[in-house]
Parts: sequence; C-alpha cells; structure tokens
Amino acid sequence: MAQEVETFAFQAEIAQLMSLIINTFYSNKEIFLRELISNSSDALDKIRYESLTDASKLDSGKQLFIKIIPDPEAKTLTIIDTGIGMTKADMINNLGTIAKSGTKAFMEALQAGADISMIGQFGVGFYSAYLVADKVIVTSKHNDDEQYVWESSAGGSFTIRPDHGESLGRGTKIVLYMKEDQAEYLEEKKIKEIVKKHSQFIGYPIKLLVQKERDREIDDDEPDDNNAAGDKPKIEDLGEDADEKATDKKKKVIKEKYSEDEELNKTKPIWTRSPDDIANEEYGEFYKSLTNDWEDHLAVKHFSVEGQLEFRALLFIPKRAPFDLFENKKQKNQIKLYVRRVFIMDNCEDLIPDYLNFIRGVVDSEDLPLNISREMLQQNKILKVIKKHIIKKMLETIEDMTEDKDDYKKFYEQFGKNIKLGIHEDTTNRKKLASLLRFYTSASGDEMCSLPDYVSRMKENQKDIYYITGESKDQVATSSFVEKLKKQGLEVVYMIEPIDEYVVQQLKEFDGRNLVSVTKEGLELPVDADEKKKLEDNMKKYEGLCKIIKDILDKRVEKVSVSNRLVSSPCCIVTSQYGWTANMERIMKAQALRDTSTMGYMTAKKHLEINPDHSIIENLRIRAEKDKSDRSLKDLVMLLFETSLLSSGFSLDDPMVHAHRIHRMIKLGLGIEEDENVSSDYTVEEVYDDMPQLEGDDDVSRMEEVD
Ligand code: ADP
Ligand code: MG
Repeated sequence: MAQEVETFAFQAEIAQLMSLIINTFYSNKEIFLRELISNSSDALDKIRYESLTDASKLDSGKQLFIKIIPDPEAKTLTIIDTGIGMTKADMINNLGTIAKSGTKAFMEALQAGADISMIGQFGVGFYSAYLVADKVIVTSKHNDDEQYVWESSAGGSFTIRPDHGESLGRGTKIVLYMKEDQAEYLEEKKIKEIVKKHSQFIGYPIKLLVQKERDREIDDDEPDDNNAAGDKPKIEDLGEDADEKATDKKKKVIKEKYSEDEELNKTKPIWTRSPDDIANEEYGEFYKSLTNDWEDHLAVKHFSVEGQLEFRALLFIPKRAPFDLFENKKQKNQIKLYVRRVFIMDNCEDLIPDYLNFIRGVVDSEDLPLNISREMLQQNKILKVIKKHIIKKMLETIEDMTEDKDDYKKFYEQFGKNIKLGIHEDTTNRKKLASLLRFYTSASGDEMCSLPDYVSRMKENQKDIYYITGESKDQVATSSFVEKLKKQGLEVVYMIEPIDEYVVQQLKEFDGRNLVSVTKEGLELPVDADEKKKLEDNMKKYEGLCKIIKDILDKRVEKVSVSNRLVSSPCCIVTSQYGWTANMERIMKAQALRDTSTMGYMTAKKHLEINPDHSIIENLRIRAEKDKSDRSLKDLVMLLFETSLLSSGFSLDDPMVHAHRIHRMIKLGLGIEEDENVSSDYTVEEVYDDMPQLEGDDDVSRMEEVD
C-alpha cells in the first residue's frame, strides 16, 4: 500500500555529509564493511546484554552472528545480523534525523585533511555505506516492534515502510546496491581480505556465504535436478578405470554448485593468549578493530591476575584524545567487560575511574556471574578489586612511558589534563600521579620538567616548592612575583592551565615539601641573618606608611605590609592562603554560568605588599611623614593600587576611573593644562587638584615618553 510509505528528510548536516561521501574521491572505500560489521557487533552486544537479565529476549533467535552475502549478479552485498534490531522510531532517529555532534566534527576533520577511515570515531560510520552503494535498504526487526524497511538513495531523504516480506526474527539486514565501479567488493577474496584486515577480532562469528563446487555421483538415467539455476553441470564419464566398479548400473559424476557459510574470524580471543606470542602489530590490529581508531595505540598493557580473583586484561592508551573527551560522559567502547570469554557489556565505567577514561581495552573476569546487570556491577566487590588492579597497572604503564621522553611528551600533550584530574579524584594514588605531572618552570627552559626534577635541583636552604598560577608561560615568567625568587636562584613552577588551580588545592605537598604559592600571603623565602635583620628594620620603618595606605584603600584590601618578594616593582597584591588567587578569580569570572553567590564569598582576599627598596615607596614614605594629609598621597596610592591589581593578574572593577587617572598623568607629562578637556561625564571621586611631581622617579619620568 502506497500510503504506508513515509518520507523523511535527512537532518541537514547528515545530508551534507552524505553528499560529501558520495561526491568526494576516496580510494580507501573498503572501510565501509568494517563500519557495518562494527554496527552489527554493537547490536549483538546490546541484545546479549539484555538477555543476561531476561533470557526471553532471545526467544526471537538464539544464535548471535553476522552474515555477509555477496550477489554478483544482482550487484548487491547484504549484511545480516541477529542483533537487537531497530524499531521504526530507532530507524528514523538513528539513521538520519537526529543530529550528532560527530557529523560536523567529521566534516571539519575531512576538510583539515583527515582520512575517511576515521568516520567510525565520529559516530557516523553507517553513512560510509554510500562510499560503495548508491542505494541502501535496511530491514530491521526489534523485539518491541514490527519489521520495518528503511531505504535511501541519498539525495536528502529516506523512506520508512512496514515490511510484509520474510521475517528476520530479530536483527538487521542491510542490502547495499553497489555502484557500477564497486563490484570488487562482491568478490569472495576481497571480502575475506577486508574482514581479516579490519574485523578479525569481532566477538561474534562473521559468516560469508561462499560458492563452492563438488562432485556428485548420479545414476546415468537420473534426471539432473540440481540444475535449477540454469548452469549446465559438466558431466564427466568416469570411464572403466575405476577398479571397484563392480556394479552393473552405470554411474556418472557431475560438478555441482552449492553455497555454504564460511566463518571468517575463527581466531581465539587475543587476550586469552600469552603476551609472549603476540607481536605489537597484532596488538595494533586488535586495538584498531576495538576502537575504530585509524592509528596504532601509543602503549599497551596485557596482563593477568591470579589467586583470590582471576582476570585478564588487555588495555591500550591511544595516541590521541577523542575529539569529545571531556564533552561526552557516555563514551563508547572504553573498556569491554567479558565474563569467561562471553561479552557482557561495552563501556563498563565501574572498571575505570573518570580520569582514566581515555583507556581502551577488554577485561575478562573468571569470577563474575554471567547474568550481572549494570546496576549490580556498581555494588560488586570483585569489580572494585579489578578496578584497583587496573588503576595500578595503568599508572605503571604511564610511568614506564616517562622513560622515553618523546613518547611521554606525546602522551602528556593529549592526556596531561587527565593526570591532573586524577590528582583531584584519586587520593590513594595522588603521590604517584604527582610525579607524572610536567610543568614549565623558571629553570626548565623549553622542556617541561617533573616535580622530582624540581626537588633534585632545590637549593640547600630551600624548604618549599614554589609555584605561580597564571594565564600563560610568558605572563607568569615576567610577573613581579617571581622576580626575587629568580634573583635568588629559586626555581618557580609555572602552573598555566586552569585545571592547575584545582590541582594545587589538592596537592598541598610533594615528597615532604610544601607547595607554596608565590602570589599568596605569608611567603617565606630562605634568608640569611642580614636579610632577616633588614626586613625587620624595614617593617618598622614602613609601619606608618602601611597604615596610611590601608586607611586610604580601606576595604579594598585586607592588609598592607612590607614585601620580601619584590625587586623592581613598587608593590604587588597577594591573596590570602585559603581564598582564590587572581588567576582563579579570572577563571571563575570567565565561566559563563558561574554561581554569583559564591563569587562574593570566594572572591580573592587582597593584601597589598610594598617594596621597601623601591624609590616610589620610599618617596611616598617621606611625603607621608612630612604631611599625612597630603592630598596627592591619596591619588598616588589609588593609582599604585590599581596598577598593582593589573600587574598582579586582577581585573579592574571600574576601568574608566583608572583610565581617567592615567589620562591625567599623560596630560601632566605633556604639559597640558587641566580642565581643558575634562568631560563632565566623569564621576570620579578622587579629583587631582594637584598632580604630584616625583622628581627623579622612573615611573613618572617615563610618562614623558608617551605621545
Ligand atoms: P555509531 O555506530 O557510532 O552509533 P553509526 O552511524 O555507525 O554510528 O550508526 C548509527 C546508529 O544506527 C547506531 O548507533 C545504531 O543505533 C543504529 N544501527 C546501525 N546499524 C545497526 C544494526 N546493524 N543494528 C542495530 N542498530 C544499528
Ligand atoms: Mg558505527
């Protein structure tokens, strides 16, 4: 009935992807088969998983397999699976109407020179069918629905109709109507080659319908009923040379054509074999078939645990993070769980902590019950122990990688964030994870170094590990906070990723040494007796000035004190031990969905530190001592404060006020009379009546250069 056919438009990006697949020249088309087999395998995984808790799900068919049927005459290639199948809604949603983030990402990747074979990683592998076919018909039967047919010759739309033909029982049949020039994929030899190359490790039998010929003896007068297909069998006369021919009835032998299933992937699961017998290439093949990755793995760990609990694991670290590593919580194909060689589930998140979510592989347990459900797994003690082992082994693997600097660099570029996340999440392994961290430091040059490296370079009288957090290497390297330490030969760790702020919240010490922020209050640098005396003297000498400045700045700062960390800057703003740093404040402000209530509460508590060795500060002190109520004092202090905010990494609440102050300075430098240009819009509380002349001061004389 014609009205049963419904037509749907492909989601725009999918339609775009399909025409890209059809119209662009790619030589590596064979991967279409890998993608379709991988989808079948996923579908089989799903029904097997459902059947673990409800055996009746397999009433619609107990055998789990994939079957490939080439038909050179009809120019079709058919792939059948007895997987979970698709309901009508599944077909509409999954094969064309629901947008996937990977569609666009994949097209962009292609434009950037990516290979078509990467398609599977982007979650749009199905459409690779159109590399070789100009029409695709998908028939599917799900336990919860009738059998439906999806059909599309691309061109922006597909149809869905109920199927009144032969029932599949359960599963999916995909018929590819091959393009004229793609007939090679109908050849047995070619199919075998592709399956061996890309799909040999699929956990279900992949059967290929092959054409064979055999001899058959027939009575001479027996009509040849094997010849319905039309091929005339060759009839040979056996002749008289057959010795045992004692019968008087004359026999003939004909060549008979028949077809049979041939299983293409009979290899024993690779993880059950001994690591000694497995070449790295074989691991690579397995890894690729498991993950759809187009590149080999970066590292592999194949091990077994015996004793109280028994399991085998084959785990891989990829070369790259997936494009949506931190976006997509529900990653596919992370760790596959098997119980005594039977596949239980994909993506078993209870086997691996979040921070190791880039690891791929299989775990095969001897002890878990076969009918375990996802819910039961969460409580399962065996699984918890397996997880512990996996974490330990993977951290070992990563540690081994550090021995090859280049390898580790590659790893760290991709997964450094994960290690940092681990510091946050995994208290038990914090120390191990900490030694896997890499940072630039004031002494590391262009290469990153580890905390153990840092410790090995520590000065004799140095107790702590110094660090600074900030936006970029350049920004922190030139920051006034590190001046003094550098001068003293003390190394400073540069923490320049947002996540580092979270790392140092957890990582208070390493190897018995405290991690000390050079932008926070209470920084104690190793000093000798002379320096100590000098600092104490300065504290006395500048006590009065500190008080005056605090009165002027009022609530803008918590405290004003004499600094021991500055060299060429007149002052800086440090934050309290437990509050946010300027960098953290910047990060939080940048987060669009920030919780405004915590902003007020957590906002960095600011302390102004003044440099007693700086001419500006010294000059201010003299001024203040001469006349506490010197009007210019207030203006200068405000200007200094705002400038320190900026140089210490804060942003200004009211940049216009600051700009106005600077403009006045510029005018002063240029000798322009005040009033001339003052816009009445300015509502500046502090008006400069009398711009101070600080003779001989660097910062003011520099104003003359502004033009
Ligand atoms: P992915 O496999 O990454 O999800 P695909 O484009 O390969 O992306 O497949 C899209 C979706 O279509 C699958 O997620 C699945 O829901 C459905 N699908 C494809 N092939 C089959 C199949 N043989 N059996 C059941 N569902 C399938
Ligand atoms: Mg797929």
